[in-house]
Amino acid sequence: MRAFFRIFVVILALLAGAGSVFSWRALQLKPRTFAAPPPDAALSGAATSATHLAEAIRFATVSTQDTAAWDPAPFVAFREWLVTAFPRVHSALTREVVNEHALLYTWKGSDTTLAPLLLTGHYDVVPVEPGTEAMWTHPPFSGDSADGHIWGRGALDDKVSVIGILEGAELLLSQAFIPQRTILLAFGHDEEVGGQRGAGHLAEVIRQRYGRVQMLVDEGGFVTRGIVPGIARPVAIISVAEKSSLTVELSVTGAGGHSSVPPEHSALGILGRALYRLEDTQMPARMTPVMSEFLRNIASEGAFVMKMAVANPMLERLVIGQLVAQPQTASSVRTSTAVTMASGSPKENVLPIRAVGIVNFRILPGDSVQGVLEHVRRVVNDTSVHVRALGSPREPSPIADFRSPEFAILERTIVQMYDGVLPTPNLLSAATDTRHYESLTRNVYRFVPAVITQPLLSGAHGTNERIGSTDFAHGIRFWAQLMKNAQDR
Ligand SMILES: [Zn+2]
Repeated sequence: MRAFFRIFVVILALLAGAGSVFSWRALQLKPRTFAAPPPDAALSGAATSATHLAEAIRFATVSTQDTAAWDPAPFVAFREWLVTAFPRVHSALTREVVNEHALLYTWKGSDTTLAPLLLTGHYDVVPVEPGTEAMWTHPPFSGDSADGHIWGRGALDDKVSVIGILEGAELLLSQAFIPQRTILLAFGHDEEVGGQRGAGHLAEVIRQRYGRVQMLVDEGGFVTRGIVPGIARPVAIISVAEKSSLTVELSVTGAGGHSSVPPEHSALGILGRALYRLEDTQMPARMTPVMSEFLRNIASEGAFVMKMAVANPMLERLVIGQLVAQPQTASSVRTSTAVTMASGSPKENVLPIRAVGIVNFRILPGDSVQGVLEHVRRVVNDTSVHVRALGSPREPSPIADFRSPEFAILERTIVQMYDGVLPTPNLLSAATDTRHYESLTRNVYRFVPAVITQPLLSGAHGTNERIGSTDFAHGIRFWAQLMKNAQDR
């Protein structure tokens, strides 16, 4: 978002001319205020702790790309532990094990005509990169409690959700809460390797049973502090859409032969030119409704020129141009192109018979797999380069409804639970299990009630993953409050 500060200079120059209309529009962009009742007194006073999260981290429920290397024992042990850790949940809710390892809890509401609330998470974690174990201040599966944090794999991704949600239900049960609307808790065991066996099956069971749900809350955004530049308030990121990944293979066939008699361009040389062209001519950048909303929300808190840039449609191209100029922000307004792998001949003095390059795209909502493939062929503009998609590529997610009453329930709960927070929709660059649940509702929201600061940011999938202990404990109250608020019709 640093790009904004460079926009200011340009805007100031423009101001001299058509300034008055722009200024008027900018003045209409007021900081957002929210009317939310205080949190439920019984919940805000409730004692909560991060003890169970620490225990949960000690089960090394690691997903491995190679299914033969996968060890189900920690998964089984984790599920058995859940039964003892959450006695009220396991007596009041129905628990089903779906497709051997995924978990579905049903808290039946008194009014079965209401579409159920669906809260999801995953209890598998990514492996620790070999050789980096010693870089952890506390071992990755220690669940150590130190320096005000709970340390280990899953602290942010995503045992924080699974345990937080179960704690929230346990808390409400201890207060004799009875839902009118059915609450479903669905926890996959293979999100980190695609989620097909977990969320894929869970979604199918839910679809057959209920057809649709009220809304889905899964992992994704966090409450950020000091991460959005220039914004003093904590910003709660609710991801309402996610990009998808598409891997494209480019290959060129050559005659091979000895390197002492090379052709003008070898297969690898031709491939290199194609890859270079793809980096040079990117997919077109454009403002999606979700990024437009995000920028308006952020700008409403920022300096006057920031408001001006965002509030005026005439300046949209300028804003997009500035976002594209920075790698950190470019991916929010266009499908990204990453040239990642290449191979030629197996030996220095052998001409390649087949040169292969791999390009990974992250598709912006609104673009498509077909559209990216057409773009590649057009930009490469060389019939000797063979282009094909690898694997079974997915389209980007739809953009969830962020004007719905259900979104308002989530937003209100966030405002209730986090003082001075600015909630906003945003686009997620990573993939989650939500894609399996898309057919169940338009209200797909990705949010974790945990506060992320700059030092914590690199923890998920990285080293020293951790979460603030009192922050996690507070998140439990958030889940309980959300389950209550979602009872609204
Ligand atoms: Zn995750």
